[in-house]
Amino acid sequence: MGWQIAIDGPASAGKSTIANALSKHFNFIHLDTGAMYRAITLKALNLKINLTNENEYNFLETTDITFKKEKIFLDGVDVSDKIRSIQVTENVSLVSTFKTVRAKLVKLQREYAANDNIVMDGRDIGTVVLPKANLKIFLDATVEERANRRRLERLEKNSLDISIEDTIKEITERDYKDSNRIISPLKQADDAIRIDTTNLGINQVLHKVIQLAIERGFKMENEKDLLEKKETKQEGEDSKSLSEENTTVSEKNSNSSKLKNLQQVEGVVKEVTKAKQVNDKIIDEKVVFTFENGQEGILSHNDTTVKDSESLFDFFEIGEKYTVVVKKTLPNNKVLVSTRLVEKRKELSKYEEIIQKHETIFAKVIKEIPEGLLLKHDDFSCLLPSSQIDLKSEEFKKIIGEDLEVAPIRLDFTRIRLIVSHNVAKSIKYKANKEVFLNNIKIGDVLDGTVKTIKEYGAFIELEQGIEGLLHISEVAHSHIDINDCLKVGENIKVQVIKIDNNQIGLSRKAILPDMWKEFSETNKVGDIVNVIVSEINKSGVVVKINEEISGFIPKSEFSWERDTYLTDLVKKGDTLDVKIIEIDPLKRRIILSRKKCQDNPWECLNLKQNDSVKGIVTVILKDGIKVNVQGILGYASKRSLGNVSLSNYKVGNEIELIVRVFDKNEMKLILASQMQSDSFTSTSKSTDKEISKVLKEQKKVLNTFGDLADLDKWQK
Ligand code: C5P
Repeated sequence: MGWQIAIDGPASAGKSTIANALSKHFNFIHLDTGAMYRAITLKALNLKINLTNENEYNFLETTDITFKKEKIFLDGVDVSDKIRSIQVTENVSLVSTFKTVRAKLVKLQREYAANDNIVMDGRDIGTVVLPKANLKIFLDATVEERANRRRLERLEKNSLDISIEDTIKEITERDYKDSNRIISPLKQADDAIRIDTTNLGINQVLHKVIQLAIERGFKMENEKDLLEKKETKQEGEDSKSLSEENTTVSEKNSNSSKLKNLQQVEGVVKEVTKAKQVNDKIIDEKVVFTFENGQEGILSHNDTTVKDSESLFDFFEIGEKYTVVVKKTLPNNKVLVSTRLVEKRKELSKYEEIIQKHETIFAKVIKEIPEGLLLKHDDFSCLLPSSQIDLKSEEFKKIIGEDLEVAPIRLDFTRIRLIVSHNVAKSIKYKANKEVFLNNIKIGDVLDGTVKTIKEYGAFIELEQGIEGLLHISEVAHSHIDINDCLKVGENIKVQVIKIDNNQIGLSRKAILPDMWKEFSETNKVGDIVNVIVSEINKSGVVVKINEEISGFIPKSEFSWERDTYLTDLVKKGDTLDVKIIEIDPLKRRIILSRKKCQDNPWECLNLKQNDSVKGIVTVILKDGIKVNVQGILGYASKRSLGNVSLSNYKVGNEIELIVRVFDKNEMKLILASQMQSDSFTSTSKSTDKEISKVLKEQKKVLNTFGDLADLDKWQK
């Protein structure tokens, strides 16, 4: 078993970047285990299996995953780009919860670690896959920083611009799933060292981890081994660029000892051949090198940085070592070499700082090439790949000859050129503009903006070209609203800055709108009468609109003096009513209203006694009795109390004469009977007023419906 470095952490914490750089530094192999879970997810999606059913993952037995030159191959096919698709990203956390998936991949990962020095990154490396790793690192960063990195990476790789908010959401969801699954959840191993990379550059993190590895004894134990490996690697570095080269599992030990084109190598000067002088110019002067593998190299004057008027004799010592770059391999086992290229490569390094500082340059567009555009900056060629240009390919021609702002993203030391991105430059500019913008605004500022997008949780308002702030739904208006009723895409609105946090701008519209609640509660009090419009009728009462922003509620019991009527019989949506305020709570934004308190209480005006004869109008015919309106209040006569007269003889609207059996103002009860029934009731039952009120008392709590009153009849029989 070799040396093992485990790097775990949440999504986009920089694990793979650091693991990759570390593997190059120490000449370890690098295994990106996330890529393996992604590959399985891709296959599951391709096979269109039900992703949630673990039994359908039997394809795992015949699945082959290998790595070659930083690429991942699924069943022999390079899927390095496909595994980064949105669809795979959305499903990988689900797929990686399954025991069968994990068992297969963990086995494979341990096999890779069995014989080689390895840097492995993932979620469970320190806890499950390599619990005895020599060094365990847990990389973390704030979710905003991680989302920023992910967004930039996407922009750079495939020009996909997903908003920062959506990226934060995606990362948070994935972290949640990865940390809360039952098998091998993402967590920091007890013996892992946590590094917060929020404010650190790649090199700073890398430096820290290298230091930690050395402190753990890596160098002391392995110095000899490392040196040997470095030497072999040096030989094999040949045409690979310094930034491209990586040692993967299958590549190791496949280096050939023959010098290759563009390989940088050290050679010893064997001789410097004589020059001839023709017209003041020194020509044909050459330096002959020998290399460790026995090959010979020829360096001509033109391929050095030595001036034409100077002699190579003054710059090259026989027997001394010099670094050269192989320019061309010749059939006779000789090679043409260059020291000019070595210098150029060194010069190219000046762009490293620009890359690190996320700066941009202006480069002249020279011509269109199959890969994209060729640009020039300070004598260096720049490749601008088509995927990195924010223009349609038919528009490329239009910018030939122009200076284009681009961001160097990679250095190709082999071909001595820069790889640049127009998209990244735009995003850097955007960040810089945003920074300037943020520096110029403060909380409380009122700004003009345009509604860009509307989501269910709020709207994004463009404040300056490309700079957006979030207007959360709770900040749109003072009351509960449907956002689509309030805002329209493209509409110009005024907003107030209420939060500036981590480069995010929080906005409020309601903060600058008059607070109608406040105004209302200041100008109205309990007892006041207001005119309202009915907006909803439900089981417990009526919801009314007092004005555009304020709604109130009339509880059913406050709607009418009449008992036991259906609200829908009394009112409909859109009706206007005068109502009395009986409660205002501006904090809870609650207004309770009463309609009945705006009307005289008919019970107060009526004085009836038991056995009084009264005239009334039949208003409703029920299954077991009738409702009768007596001087504005509703009384009830049960079927039984109407004696032999069938209910079908009664007609709504008819005037009839009845006898009062119970009249109770406080309880608002009026029970009626026909003349005849009332007589029999008084004479045969010998019941008194006292007995009736006793019954009513007992029934008080439940005696609310006319049905209840009908039951009273039964009891009295
Ligand atoms: O590292 P990357 O974001 O590519 O990982 C993709 C997903 O693979 C993670 O969100 C996680 O669900 C899964 N994964 C895992 N265990 C690992 C590595 C990755 O479950 N060791």
